[in-house]
This record gives sequence, C-alpha cells and structure tokens, in this order.
Amino acid sequence: MTVRTPVYLDHHATTPLDSRVLEAMMPVLRERFGNPASVSHAFGWTAAKLVEEARAHVAALLGCRPDEIVFTSGATESCNLALRGVADLYERPRHMVTSVLEHEAVDRPLADLERRGWRVTRVPCRADGIIDPDDIAAALCDDTVLVSLIAAQNEIGTIQSWGEVASSCSGRGVLFHTDAAQAVGRIPLDVTADGIDLLGFSAHKLYGPKGVGALFVRRGRSGVRLVAQMTGGGQERGLRSGTLNVPGIVGMGEACRLALLEREERAEHLRRLAGELYAAIADGVPDVRLNGAAQPRLPGSLNLSFPGLEAAGLIRELSVLALSTGSACGSGRPGPSPALLALGLDEREAGAGLRIGLGKDTTDEEASFAAARIVAAVCKLRSERLG
Ligand SMILES: *Cc1c(COP(=O)(O)O)cnc(C)c1O
Repeated sequence: MTVRTPVYLDHHATTPLDSRVLEAMMPVLRERFGNPASVSHAFGWTAAKLVEEARAHVAALLGCRPDEIVFTSGATESCNLALRGVADLYERPRHMVTSVLEHEAVDRPLADLERRGWRVTRVPCRADGIIDPDDIAAALCDDTVLVSLIAAQNEIGTIQSWGEVASSCSGRGVLFHTDAAQAVGRIPLDVTADGIDLLGFSAHKLYGPKGVGALFVRRGRSGVRLVAQMTGGGQERGLRSGTLNVPGIVGMGEACRLALLEREERAEHLRRLAGELYAAIADGVPDVRLNGAAQPRLPGSLNLSFPGLEAAGLIRELSVLALSTGSACGSGRPGPSPALLALGLDEREAGAGLRIGLGKDTTDEEASFAAARIVAAVCKLRSERLG
C-alpha cells in the first residue's frame, strides 16, 4: 500500500477537521445563519438552540454544567480571560504561581501582569518533564491568588498531576486554572471531580474548527468571579461580548461529542501506534532518546533526540513527513526548545528534539513509513558527518 505524502505527524499543532464535524457545521454556514442574540424571530431562536446544544456537549466532555462554559476564540483567549480576568479583580498587585512548562498563551499574559507589578513564581520541573505538586504547594504564600498549570505539555507530551495541585489550592483558598488545550478529549479529565476552577482549550486540537474555544468558569457556592476582557453586547453572561461564532461553536460541540464517545478507542490506537513507531526507530537507531517521562504521557506523542544531530537538519531531510521541533506558535523563532531547556538539557541537546504527534486517523502504514524514513535520515546524516 502506498502512503500519501507528506504524512501529517504534527497533531500537537493542530488536527484535521473531522468530516462529521464539517457535516454538522455546513447547515449553519448556509441556511441556519441567524444571530443567537436575535430574540424576535426564528432565525435567532434556531441559532440560540444550536449554541446551547453545543454548550451541553462541551460541558458533558468536561464534566460541568452548560452554564459554566464561556465560548471564546480559542485557548489563547481563554487563558488570557482567566488570568487577566482574575488579576483585574484586585487593586493591589498580588502573586500567581505557574510552571516553567507553560505555553505562551499563559506565559505571556503572566509576563504582562509582572510588568503591572504582580509577582509570578515559575516552578521548575524534574528532568523527566513532570512537575512535583509539592513544589507548587511550597510556592504558595498568603498573597497568592491563582495557580496556572499546563495539563499536558505541547512539546514533550508529559501530563501533570493537576488534581493534586487543585486540591492543595482549594485548601488554601487559591484559584486553580489549567491550560488544557492538549489534554481535553485526549486523556480523562473532569473539572468537577478534579477540583478545577478555570480551564481553557481550543476546538482545533480535537478535530474541530480553528478560531473557537472555551473557558470553563466554575459557578455555584465556590464560583469564580472574572472581569471581562472584551466588552460590548454582553454575550456569554457579559464575560465575552461579540456575536457568537455559531458555525465554529456547533463544530466544537460536535467535536466534543465525538471525543467523549471515542476518546478511549482513540487513545488505545495512539498508544499502540506510538509504541510501534518508537520500537521501530529504536531498532534502527539504538541510541534514540525519549525526552520526558514515558508515562504519564499524551497518547500518540513522542519527543525524540538523536545524539549528535540537530532536529532542524533532520526535519529538512524528512520533507515527506510533516514534523516539527516543538511549539508551532514559537517555531518561527530559531534556537533550542524552551521546554527541553526547562528539562535541564543543554542548548545543543535542546536543539535536537523532534516532536512527533500522531492522530486518531494516522494509519499503521503511515507510522511504519515514518519510522523507516526517520531511521534512514538519521543514518544518512550521521554518515555524512563522518564522511
Ligand atoms: C495550541 C495550544 C494553545 C493555543 O491554542 P490557540 O488555539 O492557538 O489559541 C495553548 N496552549 C496549549 C498547551 C496548546 O497546545
């Protein structure tokens, strides 16, 4: 069987739109075009009903109530709304705790808060890319108002113990936010059982459309207050003004519905495929190194180093594979991967990480093709270095 190239192995950056999601979106892009805020006619009522159905699917996947979901343009906006929205409640700058493994969507808003006088503690990780929940607990002080921890890391794929961190936060009256863009729909997560106060994610990381996401905001007795960052028509209970992206929201709802139904099956497929891919590479290149703990790790996620080789050169050699060195958002920026540096790798080692992200539709043929090409490229580049 022939494999169509380039083979897409960059599912941390984005995922293809599931055709069932596209089907759900099409009528909304065509005849069901109403504005959900139009309360005086059927076009508006239909759109509002579609949005609420989607909201229920998102809530079911996260384990919360539909009225705890705020639709946004994606994880970046969700994280900004959570962090700035909490900070703006305080007149005097206070303290937040985060990790060295955060995506820019968390790190940049926190850096902005630092410029406004806030103190931010960035807790280091162990060499295996895992953050010790005790280190986060130890960083809390009387002035701490919020902890933000990435649930699953986008470059190295390691999964953090957010439940433990959330419970030590709630014991101290500190809010817990997680950037769960890589985690939602891929690994088990339940905002209520896990004690999460705020959680942001994007539809396009789980086979939904780009430009739409959600922020979970806990309501009820221990509800979270936020200051809106986008004001206007007062949509989304005043937390996020602007006409809703109805096609995107409907697509996100369908993507979440499918993820809830298929998550375990997808994870099983991804774990098997990643295991086989790694074994095939290790067979041809015995000194391959897996960056980050083998477990707990996102299914289908591998970050590999081949001693002596730079990832950038390897990627140039491997044009039949769509691969990256790390975060798509930062990959315009040359230099070593910030996440690998955070693991304690030196500059040279941190430039060697090859990120492989398999998807639910990646086939066995594609995975073995990728393994063979990677082995061949490593051997070729190494022999050139010798020659
Ligand atoms: C992709 C990603 C984001 C940003 O998502 P956008 O859709 O670009 O807003 C944030 N955090 C993590 C961990 C991600 O993987």
